Amino acid sequence: MITVKDVFEGNRRHVEGCTEELYTAHLNGQAPTMCVVYCSDSRENIHIISDIEPKMGEIFTVENAGNVVDGSVSAIGAVMYCLTHLKTGELLVLGHTGCGAVTAVFGDYKSDRQVISEHIRVLENVKRIALHVVSRMEDCDVPMDEIARSDKYLSLASEINVDYQCEFVKSMLEREGIEGVNVVGAMHDLHRVYGGRNGGLYLTFGPGNDAGVKKKLVDYGSGRNVRDVMDELGVSFYKL
Ligand SMILES: [Zn+2]
Repeated sequence: MITVKDVFEGNRRHVEGCTEELYTAHLNGQAPTMCVVYCSDSRENIHIISDIEPKMGEIFTVENAGNVVDGSVSAIGAVMYCLTHLKTGELLVLGHTGCGAVTAVFGDYKSDRQVISEHIRVLENVKRIALHVVSRMEDCDVPMDEIARSDKYLSLASEINVDYQCEFVKSMLEREGIEGVNVVGAMHDLHRVYGGRNGGLYLTFGPGNDAGVKKKLVDYGSGRNVRDVMDELGVSFYKL
């Protein structure tokens, strides 16, 4: 079990073991190559779900419960700072199966503490889109009120959340006239709902280039995407 004490002890070893160049090379700022938005869930640290070993200055991270960007001033502020000021060319929004924040919006979250319910509330758009999409999926025979108890449909809602957050960032970039940012969405499969092995990462949004296999649970209908569903439902992004 890791505690704060362990972090300080680890830092002592880190300082003793690292070269002076490690810090002097980064004194004048940062130029990360990737911005990542991911869930605060303790299973979702990108250092844990991949064997990459990011070095100082390589990855700019934004974390909160539910990998939320729309509706969160701090998240979109950090993302836009990274993409505009630091000119990072790649954004990854990473969701996961069994996301507690996405599950919460389907439940009685309004009776929770105000600071928590206020955070979950910004996922209401995702909930609305998910209920609509699920109701239209041909293979769906799950009653709407059972979605919150189904691993598959909650995962589908988490995937819609990834698509939604990606679209939101894209809309912000378009509004600012910023081009050339590769916006990618992915799902980390803790529950094997995507059909592969435990812990698989699936590309769900964006071209991704050679980033990985594109595999989606969500079927928006032929040629349609989350933005089309939003237009159909009259759902707009939150005004900040
Ligand atoms: Zn989560």
